[in-house]
Amino acid sequence: MAVVKLVADYAVEPCIGCRLCDIVCPSNAIEMVGRKPIIDDALCIGCGRCVDRCPEDIMWMEERAAPLTVTVRPEAAPQDAVLALLDKAGIDPAVSVCVCTLTPASEIAAAVVKGAKDLEEVCAMTGMRSGCGIYCVAPALRLLQAAGRDMKPPKAHRWYPSTLSLWDVPAEALARYPDAFIEEDRKAFDPDGKYAPLPENAR
Ligand code: SF4
Ligand code: SF4
Repeated sequence: MAVVKLVADYAVEPCIGCRLCDIVCPSNAIEMVGRKPIIDDALCIGCGRCVDRCPEDIMWMEERAAPLTVTVRPEAAPQDAVLALLDKAGIDPAVSVCVCTLTPASEIAAAVVKGAKDLEEVCAMTGMRSGCGIYCVAPALRLLQAAGRDMKPPKAHRWYPSTLSLWDVPAEALARYPDAFIEEDRKAFDPDGKYAPLPENAR
């Protein structure tokens, strides 16, 4: 969950239409119409990346008239589906996927169960990635992969689609690098053998 107090804006006239603000926006709040960015205030999670990236320095953050609360309550989605997805991805429901907003894995899973198609929609629904935008990406992508979503980034240079875990290391690598103790780590993290690699086509 995030309480978003700021929203992005920009000065139309000096804009050169470079599209960098659109490319870096984590929640797809910016769409280029012709060569001008249009900001959807309802999707802006207030991260400020567009402001940081604008080469013309013509973007800014301003206070919203009222804070926007962005959240998907985990209990609002079917619990069996949420827990099954978390199990499939091998992620504990209570772990904080986004350490900036303290968004738990159960909320990210609920957003996916409720229909988030890609990382940008998860961000817009939960507010994750509005802080550092680093640590939350891999587990959120893993949940999307486990749900069988199309892993092609919608726009260039947003994220790397491959997020591997201990369970995705191929047998050939296990045999070649026994000193990495991958199998021992798997047993330590998952003594009941609950987790499995994601399907090849999901990576
Ligand atoms: S979400 Fe971030 S990058 Fe996107 S419009 Fe809002 S402040 Fe800019
Ligand atoms: S990054 Fe700045 S100059 Fe480039 S399209 Fe966005 S507002 Fe215009």
